[in-house]
Amino acid sequence: MSEKFRALMVSKTDDAPKADFVDITEDDLMEGDVTVAVDYSTVNYKDGLALTGAAPIIRKYPLIPGIDFAGTVTASRHAGFSQGDRVVLNGYGVGEGHHGGYAQKARVPGDWLVKLTDNITASQAMAIGTAGYTAMLSVMGLEDGGVTPDKGPVLVTGAAGGVGSVAIAILSKLGYKVIASTGRASEADYLKGLGATEIIDRNELSEPGKPLGKERWAGAVDAVGSTTLANALSQTAYGGTVTACGLAQGMDLPGSVAPFILRGVRLQGIDSVMAPMAKREIAWRRLATDLDMRKLEAMTSEAKLEDLPRLAGEILAGKVRGRVVVDVNA
Ligand code: NDP
Repeated sequence: MSEKFRALMVSKTDDAPKADFVDITEDDLMEGDVTVAVDYSTVNYKDGLALTGAAPIIRKYPLIPGIDFAGTVTASRHAGFSQGDRVVLNGYGVGEGHHGGYAQKARVPGDWLVKLTDNITASQAMAIGTAGYTAMLSVMGLEDGGVTPDKGPVLVTGAAGGVGSVAIAILSKLGYKVIASTGRASEADYLKGLGATEIIDRNELSEPGKPLGKERWAGAVDAVGSTTLANALSQTAYGGTVTACGLAQGMDLPGSVAPFILRGVRLQGIDSVMAPMAKREIAWRRLATDLDMRKLEAMTSEAKLEDLPRLAGEILAGKVRGRVVVDVNA
């Protein structure tokens, strides 16, 4: 009989989804050709939505949530992976329609896994997590749009959150001046420590503004959406690029085409879930070099599986600072 291990299982009820800590075996896992002993998972905004049921993220019940994990391969029928390989997984519907990272073991198709480079630990990989990997994809989106440090500052919205914190640290290491937009004035020192050169109150961007404002930044990494994204676009300098990955303020985009047709501004969508493997591998390689690991440590706190129901509510309330690593074996 296969060994039991712990998992957080969410089942559907008439009200909010119900999360229970259960002991299961590998027989309870879903299809896949690689089995992984999970070391760490993390808490992303989407995990908060899944655990609380605030948005219909989970498509199949009962389900182990957790949209990402890092760990070590224990068994593989996939040509690209062998026992002992250290791997990371982001997205592909894991934690949505396929059992995810909130368990001591996971089984997934090997085509969804990225091998971790030697210079990054499993704990660091999950301190980065999907939020940090999305921050890297966002910076790559800016670069693709031609935003180089000499073009001017870059705005980062949702600055004290996961995507925002990692984006600031990466941009600062790459030599960009960073304007951090936050609703938490008390986090100014934290944000400066990550490399922000200027802090602005997010209220400046969250109310409806002009179709075209003063040109304030060469580009922006937006994790907030809605009016904030519209204002980020309207204040982007001629030829700049704004990346959009998130919806912490809202799903809508109440702006005008003025920035696009009068300033040639580019709006670059960022998707981490179905990003092609080649792009993922570049992003993870770059995270190992372009993110200062001391800054990553400074933005990361640790948690256990038991803390997840509480953290889910906190991340949706915008109360989680930076990143949280979940030690599934603690
Ligand atoms: P966090 O909760 O850690 O960060 C979001 C931040 O947004 C908060 O910390 C807060 O920053 C700010 N914020 C929250 N509510 C509001 C509001 N009502 N108005 C304005 N700002 C607000 O989440 P993550 O960093 O994990 O994710 C950020 C966003 O990116 C989420 O919407 C998430 O779904 C999305 N995402 C998308 C991915 C993709 O593939 N496209 C992948 C990963 C994340 P502050 O306190 O500094 O103001």
